[in-house]
Amino acid sequence: MKILVFNGGSSSQKSCLYDIGETLPDSPPHPLWDGQIDWGISPAQIIIKTGGSKTMTLPAPRDRRQALKELIFTLIHGDQPILNSLNEIHRVGHRVVHGGSRYQQSTLITPQVEAEIERLIPLAPNHHPSHLEGIATVRQILGDIPQIAVFDTAFHAQIPDFLATYPIPYQWFEQGIRRYGFHGISHQYCAHRAAYLLRRESHELRIINCHLGNGASLAAIRNGISINTTMGFTPLEGLMMGTRCGSIDPSILIYLLKNQNISIDELNTLLFHESGLKGIWGKSGDMREIIASWNGGDKRAGLALEMYIERLKSAIGSMAATLGGLDCLVFTAGVGENSAFVRERTCDGLRFLGIKLDTTLNEHATSDSDIATPDSRVRILVIHTQEDWQIATECWLYNCSSLRRL
Ligand code: ADP
Repeated sequence: MKILVFNGGSSSQKSCLYDIGETLPDSPPHPLWDGQIDWGISPAQIIIKTGGSKTMTLPAPRDRRQALKELIFTLIHGDQPILNSLNEIHRVGHRVVHGGSRYQQSTLITPQVEAEIERLIPLAPNHHPSHLEGIATVRQILGDIPQIAVFDTAFHAQIPDFLATYPIPYQWFEQGIRRYGFHGISHQYCAHRAAYLLRRESHELRIINCHLGNGASLAAIRNGISINTTMGFTPLEGLMMGTRCGSIDPSILIYLLKNQNISIDELNTLLFHESGLKGIWGKSGDMREIIASWNGGDKRAGLALEMYIERLKSAIGSMAATLGGLDCLVFTAGVGENSAFVRERTCDGLRFLGIKLDTTLNEHATSDSDIATPDSRVRILVIHTQEDWQIATECWLYNCSSLRRL
């Protein structure tokens, strides 16, 4: 079954094509085709890879729908077409950032679902308009093909009310102001992958998955489901991130609004784009640059790093408390997969939880490897997150409904 995956954001559109047979493979295969539109660079580009290597670069139209169409048509045109006809595609899966309270699992996109994604734009203003563009463009080109929404919030839908509710007037919870959590597709993939790598069943494992990219969140996972996470109503809560502040005293916002003549839009920009590592260091939120600058003696970079690690450690401790213990700590995404330094400093402060890192394995960690010492009570894994594969898997399972509902 050929499944096209769409993963759209405000300045980029990622897409790939998988072919899944009768059974799901144990490990994710390479996509047959991987296409990306990058509107964040000038001039904007469409970049196509097949079999893992770059095969084509095209100028991308500024008109987003036109660019999406051209992206899809590279599947059948160009030097190395992957398909003879677009009719060979069976399903299209869309990553949708916010499912609100309603969508607790992957869902076939109907006009009602589309309307709901539109209604949720205020909760995901940077993403939902792009998702809707993707859905409409696919319909225009591929007609009535089944399109499936895979929600980033869905994996957290079973977080118990006492953890999902904010200690504010209860009516707010009834109006939907609650903790939703994000990065669910990545957390779900990593939890499943961790069980596979450890040759254990999901129900035997208490996992903390550390998704540390530009955005960052933890999920506490028991029995293969998320029972707590650090992000909340929006992806601003929780850990200190590249440019987002994470959790801070909300009175700061009231103080700024009252006393600093700051507008709501400016505040939004400050908290989402000018805070976190970037806010403290002042130059960028890129972990590689901050570590390099700290190595060169920059004290502010050092402060940013200490804050980042300390907040990460505290949050891991808190998630371990929710789980009532820990069997496996997973590091994933840009920082989690690549920064031996962040992993080492984090694990160093968590030995009391039974976490013992093998520093040599950590330095040379490859994707999907165990970097704990043999006597560590907690296994420590580095997992390369594969959200697109998880989306394709959800679409495949959706089709095989008898399997899904076993
Ligand atoms: P996004 O959330 O945008 O998908 P990524 O998962 O790609 O982000 O993570 C981006 C972050 O990963 C950046 O802060 C980048 O500096 C960091 N990163 C990538 N490689 C390394 C590395 N070798 N060492 C430290 N940080 C790294």
